[in-house]
Amino acid sequence: MKLLSTRTAVVLIYSLLLVWGLMTFTEKYFNNASVWVQHPSNRHLHADGKLVSSGIIYDRWGSILMQMVEGATEFHKDKTVRTAVMHATGDVNGNVATSCQAAFKDHLTGWDIVNGAYRFNNKLSSGSDLTLTLDADLCAAAYKELDGRKGTVGVYNYKTGEILCMVSTPSFDPGNPPDVKANADKYEGVYINRFLSSAYTPGSVFKLVTAAAAIDNLNNIENNTYYCDGKLQIGGDTVTCQSAHGEVTLKQALANSCNAAFAQITLELGADSLQKYADLAGFNSSLEVDGIKTTAGRVDVEDVTGANLAWAGIGQYTNSANPLNFMAFMGAIANDGVRITPRILADQGIFSFITTSNEQKRVLSVETAEKLKKLMRNNTVSAYGDESFKGLELCAKTGTAEVGGGEKPHAWFAGFLDREDFPLAFVVVIENGGTGRRAAAPVAAKVLQAAVRAGSS
Ligand SMILES: [Zn+2]
Repeated sequence: MKLLSTRTAVVLIYSLLLVWGLMTFTEKYFNNASVWVQHPSNRHLHADGKLVSSGIIYDRWGSILMQMVEGATEFHKDKTVRTAVMHATGDVNGNVATSCQAAFKDHLTGWDIVNGAYRFNNKLSSGSDLTLTLDADLCAAAYKELDGRKGTVGVYNYKTGEILCMVSTPSFDPGNPPDVKANADKYEGVYINRFLSSAYTPGSVFKLVTAAAAIDNLNNIENNTYYCDGKLQIGGDTVTCQSAHGEVTLKQALANSCNAAFAQITLELGADSLQKYADLAGFNSSLEVDGIKTTAGRVDVEDVTGANLAWAGIGQYTNSANPLNFMAFMGAIANDGVRITPRILADQGIFSFITTSNEQKRVLSVETAEKLKKLMRNNTVSAYGDESFKGLELCAKTGTAEVGGGEKPHAWFAGFLDREDFPLAFVVVIENGGTGRRAAAPVAAKVLQAAVRAGSS
Protein backbone atom coordinates (compact mmCIF):
# COMPACT_ATOMS: atom_id res chain seq x y z
CA MET A 1 0.00 0.00 0.00
CA LYS A 2 2.82 2.36 0.96
CA LEU A 3 4.63 1.56 -2.32
CA LEU A 4 1.47 2.31 -4.28
CA SER A 5 0.92 5.72 -2.66
CA THR A 6 4.59 6.61 -3.23
CA ARG A 7 4.16 5.72 -6.92
CA THR A 8 0.95 7.74 -7.10
CA ALA A 9 2.72 10.73 -5.60
CA VAL A 10 5.60 10.44 -8.08
CA VAL A 11 3.22 10.15 -11.04
CA LEU A 12 1.28 13.11 -9.73
CA ILE A 13 4.43 15.20 -9.41
CA TYR A 14 5.48 14.30 -12.98
CA SER A 15 1.99 15.11 -14.27
CA LEU A 16 2.06 18.50 -12.57
CA LEU A 17 5.52 19.18 -14.00
CA LEU A 18 4.24 18.28 -17.46
CA VAL A 19 1.24 20.58 -17.15
CA TRP A 20 3.43 23.38 -15.76
CA GLY A 21 5.90 22.89 -18.63
CA LEU A 22 3.15 22.99 -21.23
CA MET A 23 1.66 26.11 -19.71
CA THR A 24 5.06 27.84 -19.59
CA PHE A 25 5.76 26.89 -23.20
CA THR A 26 2.31 28.03 -24.38
CA GLU A 27 2.68 31.34 -22.60
CA LYS A 28 6.15 31.86 -24.10
CA TYR A 29 4.86 30.84 -27.51
CA PHE A 30 2.08 33.39 -27.49
CA ASN A 31 4.34 36.13 -26.17
CA ASN A 32 7.48 35.49 -28.22
CA ALA A 33 6.57 33.41 -31.27
CA SER A 34 6.40 36.47 -33.49
CA VAL A 35 9.97 37.40 -32.51
CA TRP A 36 11.27 33.82 -32.96
CA VAL A 37 9.77 33.38 -36.39
CA GLN A 38 11.23 36.67 -37.65
CA HIS A 39 14.73 35.75 -36.48
CA PRO A 40 17.19 35.89 -39.42
CA SER A 41 18.14 32.24 -38.76
CA ASN A 42 14.63 31.09 -39.71
CA ARG A 43 15.16 29.77 -43.23
CA HIS A 44 11.44 29.70 -43.97
CA LEU A 45 11.63 33.51 -44.24
CA HIS A 46 15.32 34.39 -44.48
CA ALA A 47 18.46 33.50 -46.47
CA ASP A 48 21.85 34.81 -45.36
CA GLY A 49 20.04 36.94 -42.78
CA LYS A 50 17.91 38.75 -45.38
CA LEU A 51 14.18 38.46 -45.81
CA VAL A 52 13.41 36.42 -48.93
CA SER A 53 9.67 36.20 -48.81
CA SER A 54 7.16 38.96 -48.23
CA GLY A 55 3.76 40.14 -49.39
CA ILE A 56 3.44 43.13 -51.70
CA ILE A 57 2.99 46.67 -50.33
CA TYR A 58 0.63 48.78 -52.47
CA ASP A 59 -0.35 52.44 -52.34
CA ARG A 60 -4.04 53.46 -52.25
CA TRP A 61 -4.35 53.22 -56.04
CA GLY A 62 -2.80 49.75 -56.30
CA SER A 63 0.63 50.96 -57.35
CA ILE A 64 3.37 48.56 -56.10
CA LEU A 65 5.68 50.21 -53.56
CA MET A 66 7.61 47.11 -52.51
CA GLN A 67 7.68 43.43 -53.44
CA MET A 68 9.91 40.37 -53.41
CA VAL A 69 10.93 39.00 -56.78
CA GLU A 70 12.94 35.75 -56.63
CA GLY A 71 14.22 36.54 -53.18
CA ALA A 72 15.22 40.13 -53.94
CA THR A 73 13.41 43.25 -52.73
CA GLU A 74 12.12 45.51 -55.48
CA PHE A 75 10.65 48.95 -54.99
CA HIS A 76 8.46 51.27 -57.08
CA LYS A 77 9.65 51.74 -60.68
CA ASP A 78 10.02 55.52 -60.28
CA LYS A 79 13.06 56.74 -58.38
CA THR A 80 11.36 59.82 -56.88
CA VAL A 81 8.44 57.72 -55.60
CA ARG A 82 10.84 55.11 -54.16
CA THR A 83 12.74 57.84 -52.34
CA ALA A 84 9.59 59.68 -51.19
CA VAL A 85 8.04 56.56 -49.62
CA MET A 86 11.28 55.00 -48.34
CA HIS A 87 10.31 55.69 -44.72
CA ALA A 88 6.92 54.04 -45.31
CA THR A 89 8.24 50.89 -46.99
CA GLY A 90 11.60 50.65 -45.22
CA ASP A 91 14.94 49.88 -46.88
CA VAL A 92 16.49 46.47 -47.70
CA ASN A 93 18.47 46.35 -44.46
CA GLY A 94 15.55 47.09 -42.14
CA ASN A 95 17.02 50.34 -40.82
CA VAL A 96 13.72 52.22 -40.52
CA ALA A 97 12.14 51.05 -37.26
CA THR A 98 8.74 52.60 -38.01
CA SER A 99 8.47 51.30 -41.59
CA CYS A 100 5.52 49.15 -42.67
CA GLN A 101 7.97 46.38 -43.46
CA ALA A 102 9.00 46.37 -39.79
CA ALA A 103 5.66 47.21 -38.17
CA PHE A 104 3.59 44.69 -40.14
CA LYS A 105 6.23 42.00 -40.74
CA ASP A 106 4.07 39.16 -39.40
CA HIS A 107 1.33 40.01 -41.86
CA LEU A 108 3.73 40.52 -44.78
CA THR A 109 5.50 37.21 -44.17
CA GLY A 110 2.21 35.38 -43.90
CA TRP A 111 2.91 34.26 -40.36
CA ASP A 112 0.18 33.87 -37.78
CA ILE A 113 0.06 32.38 -34.32
CA VAL A 114 -2.22 29.45 -35.29
CA ASN A 115 -0.81 28.37 -38.66
CA GLY A 116 2.80 29.47 -38.21
CA ALA A 117 4.85 30.13 -41.35
CA TYR A 118 2.82 27.59 -43.32
CA ARG A 119 2.12 28.38 -46.96
CA PHE A 120 0.48 26.52 -49.81
CA ASN A 121 2.98 25.27 -52.44
CA ASN A 122 5.52 27.47 -50.66
CA LYS A 123 3.84 30.59 -52.08
CA LEU A 124 2.47 33.47 -50.08
CA SER A 125 -1.20 34.13 -50.62
CA SER A 126 -2.39 37.60 -51.53
CA GLY A 127 -3.65 37.71 -47.94
CA SER A 128 -0.09 38.67 -46.99
CA ASP A 129 -0.17 41.81 -49.12
CA LEU A 130 -0.77 45.24 -47.64
CA THR A 131 -2.55 48.24 -49.10
CA LEU A 132 -1.53 51.55 -47.59
CA THR A 133 -3.62 54.73 -47.52
CA LEU A 134 -0.70 56.66 -49.09
CA ASP A 135 -0.92 58.22 -52.53
CA ALA A 136 2.53 57.50 -54.03
CA ASP A 137 2.41 60.36 -56.54
CA LEU A 138 1.34 62.83 -53.86
CA CYS A 139 4.28 61.71 -51.70
CA ALA A 140 6.58 62.22 -54.70
CA ALA A 141 5.15 65.73 -55.24
CA ALA A 142 5.80 66.60 -51.58
CA TYR A 143 9.32 65.18 -51.78
CA LYS A 144 10.07 67.37 -54.80
CA GLU A 145 8.67 70.47 -53.07
CA LEU A 146 10.97 69.94 -50.07
CA ASP A 147 13.74 70.34 -52.66
CA GLY A 148 16.65 68.91 -50.72
CA ARG A 149 15.73 70.60 -47.44
CA LYS A 150 15.32 68.52 -44.28
CA GLY A 151 11.83 68.24 -42.85
CA THR A 152 8.48 66.59 -43.30
CA VAL A 153 5.14 66.90 -45.09
CA GLY A 154 1.99 65.12 -43.94
CA VAL A 155 -1.58 65.20 -45.27
CA TYR A 156 -4.51 63.17 -43.96
CA ASN A 157 -8.27 62.92 -44.26
CA TYR A 158 -9.61 64.26 -40.96
CA LYS A 159 -12.89 62.34 -41.29
CA THR A 160 -11.52 58.87 -42.11
CA GLY A 161 -8.02 59.19 -40.63
CA GLU A 162 -6.35 58.02 -43.86
CA ILE A 163 -2.82 59.41 -44.32
CA LEU A 164 -2.41 60.34 -47.99
CA CYS A 165 1.01 61.89 -47.82
CA MET A 166 3.87 61.04 -45.47
CA VAL A 167 7.30 62.27 -46.48
CA SER A 168 10.41 62.74 -44.38
CA THR A 169 13.70 64.16 -45.60
CA PRO A 170 16.56 63.47 -45.96
CA SER A 171 15.72 60.20 -47.68
CA PHE A 172 17.43 58.01 -50.30
CA ASP A 173 16.62 55.66 -53.12
CA PRO A 174 16.17 52.26 -51.41
CA GLY A 175 16.80 50.61 -54.78
CA ASN A 176 20.29 52.08 -54.78
CA PRO A 177 21.29 52.89 -51.17
CA PRO A 178 24.09 55.44 -50.71
CA ASP A 179 27.01 55.33 -48.29
CA VAL A 180 25.22 57.06 -45.43
CA LYS A 181 28.25 57.13 -43.11
CA ALA A 182 30.44 58.80 -45.72
CA ASN A 183 27.91 61.66 -46.02
CA ALA A 184 26.94 62.05 -42.37
CA ASP A 185 25.73 65.63 -42.70
CA LYS A 186 23.60 65.11 -45.79
CA TYR A 187 22.00 61.96 -44.37
CA GLU A 188 21.67 63.15 -40.76
CA GLY A 189 18.94 61.06 -39.10
CA VAL A 190 18.00 59.54 -42.47
CA TYR A 191 16.47 56.39 -40.96
CA ILE A 192 14.15 58.46 -38.75
CA ASN A 193 10.71 59.20 -40.10
CA ARG A 194 10.48 62.82 -38.97
CA PHE A 195 6.70 62.86 -39.45
CA LEU A 196 6.24 60.12 -36.83
CA SER A 197 9.36 60.27 -34.71
CA SER A 198 10.60 63.83 -34.38
CA ALA A 199 9.74 66.69 -32.03
CA TYR A 200 10.51 70.25 -33.07
CA THR A 201 10.04 73.60 -31.37
CA PRO A 202 6.60 74.58 -32.71
CA GLY A 203 6.88 78.36 -32.68
CA SER A 204 3.73 80.25 -33.54
CA VAL A 205 1.60 77.32 -34.74
CA PHE A 206 1.30 76.71 -30.99
CA LYS A 207 -0.67 79.98 -30.68
CA LEU A 208 -3.67 77.88 -31.79
CA VAL A 209 -3.45 75.95 -28.52
CA THR A 210 -3.22 79.20 -26.53
CA ALA A 211 -6.12 80.63 -28.56
CA ALA A 212 -8.27 77.57 -27.75
CA ALA A 213 -7.61 78.06 -24.03
CA ALA A 214 -8.35 81.80 -24.34
CA ILE A 215 -11.66 81.23 -26.16
CA ASP A 216 -12.83 78.90 -23.38
CA ASN A 217 -11.46 80.73 -20.36
CA LEU A 218 -11.12 84.48 -20.86
CA ASN A 219 -14.17 86.71 -20.56
CA ASN A 220 -15.03 88.78 -23.60
CA ILE A 221 -11.91 87.47 -25.39
CA GLU A 222 -13.37 88.10 -28.85
CA ASN A 223 -13.73 91.85 -28.23
CA ASN A 224 -10.81 92.52 -25.91
CA THR A 225 -7.80 94.33 -27.31
CA TYR A 226 -4.14 94.00 -26.44
CA TYR A 227 -1.49 96.62 -27.06
CA CYS A 228 1.76 95.85 -28.89
CA ASP A 229 4.56 98.38 -29.33
CA GLY A 230 6.91 95.76 -30.73
CA LYS A 231 7.93 94.28 -27.40
CA LEU A 232 6.62 93.43 -23.96
CA GLN A 233 8.57 93.89 -20.75
CA ILE A 234 7.94 91.07 -18.23
CA GLY A 235 10.01 91.57 -15.09
CA GLY A 236 13.61 91.74 -16.25
CA ASP A 237 12.84 89.98 -19.55
CA THR A 238 11.55 91.21 -22.89
CA VAL A 239 9.23 89.36 -25.25
CA THR A 240 9.90 90.67 -28.73
CA CYS A 241 7.55 91.01 -31.70
CA GLN A 242 8.30 91.29 -35.43
CA SER A 243 6.75 94.77 -35.51
CA ALA A 244 4.63 97.19 -33.44
CA HIS A 245 1.10 95.90 -34.08
CA GLY A 246 -0.71 98.54 -31.97
CA GLU A 247 -4.17 97.68 -30.56
CA VAL A 248 -5.08 94.14 -31.63
CA THR A 249 -7.93 91.72 -30.99
CA LEU A 250 -7.34 87.95 -30.67
CA LYS A 251 -8.28 87.62 -34.35
CA GLN A 252 -5.73 90.22 -35.45
CA ALA A 253 -3.11 88.92 -33.03
CA LEU A 254 -3.40 85.42 -34.53
CA ALA A 255 -3.38 86.63 -38.15
CA ASN A 256 -0.31 88.82 -37.56
CA SER A 257 1.20 86.34 -35.10
CA CYS A 258 1.65 89.07 -32.49
CA ASN A 259 3.93 87.81 -29.71
CA ALA A 260 3.17 90.74 -27.38
CA ALA A 261 -0.58 90.07 -27.46
CA PHE A 262 -0.13 86.32 -27.00
CA ALA A 263 2.28 86.93 -24.12
CA GLN A 264 -0.42 88.97 -22.35
CA ILE A 265 -3.10 86.36 -23.14
CA THR A 266 -0.88 83.57 -21.80
CA LEU A 267 -0.20 85.41 -18.54
CA GLU A 268 -3.95 86.03 -18.11
CA LEU A 269 -4.60 82.32 -18.66
CA GLY A 270 -1.94 81.07 -16.26
CA ALA A 271 0.16 77.91 -16.36
CA ASP A 272 -2.57 75.42 -15.37
CA SER A 273 -4.92 76.44 -18.14
CA LEU A 274 -2.16 76.43 -20.78
CA GLN A 275 -1.00 73.00 -19.60
CA LYS A 276 -4.55 71.63 -19.75
CA TYR A 277 -5.12 72.79 -23.33
CA ALA A 278 -1.67 71.61 -24.45
CA ASP A 279 -2.51 68.15 -23.09
CA LEU A 280 -5.90 68.24 -24.83
CA ALA A 281 -4.21 69.23 -28.09
CA GLY A 282 -2.16 66.04 -27.90
CA PHE A 283 1.08 67.18 -26.30
CA ASN A 284 2.76 64.88 -23.76
CA SER A 285 1.24 61.78 -25.32
CA SER A 286 1.86 59.75 -28.44
CA LEU A 287 -0.63 58.48 -30.98
CA GLU A 288 -0.70 55.00 -32.47
CA VAL A 289 -0.86 54.89 -36.23
CA ASP A 290 -2.09 51.30 -36.70
CA GLY A 291 0.14 50.36 -33.79
CA ILE A 292 3.14 52.51 -34.81
CA LYS A 293 3.75 54.89 -31.91
CA THR A 294 4.58 58.52 -32.59
CA THR A 295 7.06 60.51 -30.54
CA ALA A 296 5.30 62.73 -28.01
CA GLY A 297 5.72 66.50 -28.20
CA ARG A 298 6.32 68.15 -24.85
CA VAL A 299 4.78 71.09 -23.03
CA ASP A 300 5.65 71.34 -19.35
CA VAL A 301 4.72 74.64 -17.75
CA GLU A 302 3.97 73.42 -14.25
CA ASP A 303 5.24 76.12 -11.84
CA VAL A 304 6.47 78.23 -14.79
CA THR A 305 5.76 81.96 -14.56
CA GLY A 306 6.62 85.32 -16.10
CA ALA A 307 8.50 85.57 -19.37
CA ASN A 308 9.10 81.81 -19.56
CA LEU A 309 5.35 81.15 -19.37
CA ALA A 310 4.71 83.90 -21.94
CA TRP A 311 7.24 82.31 -24.31
CA ALA A 312 5.60 78.92 -23.79
CA GLY A 313 2.25 80.38 -24.89
CA ILE A 314 4.01 81.63 -28.04
CA GLY A 315 5.35 78.12 -28.77
CA GLN A 316 8.92 78.65 -27.62
CA TYR A 317 10.42 78.03 -24.13
CA THR A 318 10.94 74.23 -23.86
CA ASN A 319 7.90 73.29 -25.99
CA SER A 320 8.29 70.67 -28.68
CA ALA A 321 5.74 69.29 -31.13
CA ASN A 322 5.52 66.06 -33.09
CA PRO A 323 4.41 66.83 -36.69
CA LEU A 324 1.86 64.01 -36.95
CA ASN A 325 0.27 64.78 -33.59
CA PHE A 326 0.04 68.46 -34.45
CA MET A 327 -1.55 67.61 -37.80
CA ALA A 328 -4.11 65.50 -35.92
CA PHE A 329 -4.91 68.54 -33.75
CA MET A 330 -5.53 70.52 -36.96
CA GLY A 331 -7.85 67.71 -38.03
CA ALA A 332 -9.71 67.94 -34.72
CA ILE A 333 -10.35 71.67 -35.20
CA ALA A 334 -11.65 70.94 -38.71
CA ASN A 335 -13.75 67.99 -37.56
CA ASP A 336 -15.90 69.88 -34.98
CA GLY A 337 -13.45 69.18 -32.17
CA VAL A 338 -13.18 65.41 -32.67
CA ARG A 339 -9.74 64.04 -33.43
CA ILE A 340 -9.63 60.94 -35.63
CA THR A 341 -6.32 59.15 -35.13
CA PRO A 342 -4.42 59.03 -38.43
CA ARG A 343 -3.91 55.59 -39.98
CA ILE A 344 -1.77 54.14 -42.74
CA LEU A 345 -3.47 50.82 -43.48
CA ALA A 346 -6.32 50.92 -45.96
CA ASP A 347 -9.26 48.55 -45.45
CA GLN A 348 -7.69 45.27 -46.57
CA GLY A 349 -10.85 43.48 -47.64
CA ILE A 350 -12.86 40.72 -45.99
CA PHE A 351 -10.21 37.99 -46.28
CA SER A 352 -7.60 39.87 -44.33
CA PHE A 353 -6.81 39.17 -40.68
CA ILE A 354 -5.27 42.59 -40.19
CA THR A 355 -7.62 45.17 -38.76
CA THR A 356 -7.43 48.91 -39.11
CA SER A 357 -8.17 51.22 -36.23
CA ASN A 358 -10.15 54.42 -36.23
CA GLU A 359 -9.82 55.81 -32.75
CA GLN A 360 -11.68 59.04 -32.02
CA LYS A 361 -11.40 61.54 -29.21
CA ARG A 362 -13.18 64.81 -28.52
CA VAL A 363 -10.47 67.37 -27.74
CA LEU A 364 -12.43 70.64 -28.16
CA SER A 365 -16.08 71.59 -27.91
CA VAL A 366 -17.99 72.08 -31.17
CA GLU A 367 -18.24 75.84 -30.45
CA THR A 368 -14.52 76.28 -29.70
CA ALA A 369 -13.54 74.32 -32.82
CA GLU A 370 -15.88 76.48 -34.92
CA LYS A 371 -14.38 79.71 -33.52
CA LEU A 372 -10.82 78.51 -34.14
CA LYS A 373 -11.76 77.51 -37.67
CA LYS A 374 -13.02 81.03 -38.38
CA LEU A 375 -9.85 82.56 -36.94
CA MET A 376 -7.71 80.26 -39.09
CA ARG A 377 -9.71 81.06 -42.20
CA ASN A 378 -9.20 84.74 -41.44
CA ASN A 379 -5.43 84.13 -41.20
CA THR A 380 -5.41 82.97 -44.83
CA VAL A 381 -7.72 85.66 -46.16
CA SER A 382 -6.29 88.63 -44.28
CA ALA A 383 -2.63 87.70 -43.88
CA TYR A 384 -1.35 84.85 -46.10
CA GLY A 385 -3.25 85.67 -49.30
CA ASP A 386 -6.14 83.46 -50.41
CA GLU A 387 -5.00 83.71 -54.06
CA SER A 388 -1.98 81.55 -53.19
CA PHE A 389 -4.39 78.79 -52.12
CA LYS A 390 -7.08 79.17 -54.76
CA GLY A 391 -10.22 77.11 -54.17
CA LEU A 392 -8.80 75.30 -51.16
CA GLU A 393 -10.85 77.12 -48.48
CA LEU A 394 -7.65 77.03 -46.50
CA CYS A 395 -7.61 77.51 -42.73
CA ALA A 396 -4.04 77.69 -41.44
CA LYS A 397 -1.34 79.05 -39.16
CA THR A 398 2.31 79.78 -39.82
CA GLY A 399 5.13 79.09 -37.40
CA THR A 400 8.69 80.38 -37.34
CA ALA A 401 10.35 78.51 -34.52
CA GLU A 402 13.53 80.08 -33.14
CA VAL A 403 16.09 77.37 -32.47
CA GLY A 404 19.07 79.41 -31.24
CA GLY A 405 22.73 78.74 -31.91
CA GLY A 406 22.74 81.17 -34.83
CA GLU A 407 20.71 78.71 -36.93
CA LYS A 408 17.83 79.78 -39.14
CA PRO A 409 14.41 79.09 -37.55
CA HIS A 410 12.32 76.00 -38.35
CA ALA A 411 9.49 76.88 -40.74
CA TRP A 412 6.03 75.49 -39.96
CA PHE A 413 2.72 75.67 -41.76
CA ALA A 414 -0.27 73.69 -40.50
CA GLY A 415 -4.01 73.66 -41.02
CA PHE A 416 -6.78 72.14 -43.11
CA LEU A 417 -9.17 72.59 -46.01
CA ASP A 418 -12.69 73.53 -44.93
CA ARG A 419 -14.18 71.43 -47.72
CA GLU A 420 -16.74 68.61 -47.50
CA ASP A 421 -15.31 66.92 -50.61
CA PHE A 422 -11.68 67.23 -49.51
CA PRO A 423 -11.54 67.02 -45.71
CA LEU A 424 -7.76 67.25 -45.55
CA ALA A 425 -5.53 68.44 -42.71
CA PHE A 426 -1.81 68.93 -43.17
CA VAL A 427 1.51 69.87 -41.65
CA VAL A 428 4.74 71.08 -43.23
CA VAL A 429 7.98 71.51 -41.27
CA ILE A 430 11.23 72.63 -42.86
CA GLU A 431 14.27 72.47 -40.59
CA ASN A 432 16.14 75.78 -40.54
CA GLY A 433 13.94 76.79 -43.45
CA GLY A 434 13.37 80.40 -42.38
CA THR A 435 9.87 81.82 -41.93
CA GLY A 436 6.80 79.62 -42.05
CA ARG A 437 5.12 81.87 -44.53
CA ARG A 438 7.96 82.06 -47.06
CA ALA A 439 9.38 78.55 -46.75
CA ALA A 440 6.61 76.19 -45.60
CA ALA A 441 3.38 77.75 -46.91
CA PRO A 442 4.30 77.45 -50.64
CA VAL A 443 5.11 73.74 -50.13
CA ALA A 444 1.69 73.20 -48.55
CA ALA A 445 -0.03 75.10 -51.39
CA LYS A 446 1.55 72.87 -54.07
CA VAL A 447 0.93 69.59 -52.23
CA LEU A 448 -2.69 70.43 -51.33
CA GLN A 449 -3.49 71.47 -54.89
CA ALA A 450 -1.99 68.17 -56.07
CA ALA A 451 -4.13 66.27 -53.53
CA VAL A 452 -7.29 67.93 -54.78
CA ARG A 453 -6.33 67.26 -58.42
CA ALA A 454 -5.68 63.58 -57.62
CA GLY A 455 -9.10 63.31 -55.97
CA SER A 456 -7.46 61.39 -53.17
CA SER A 457 -10.22 61.59 -50.62
ZN1 LIG B 1 2.95 92.45 -31.94
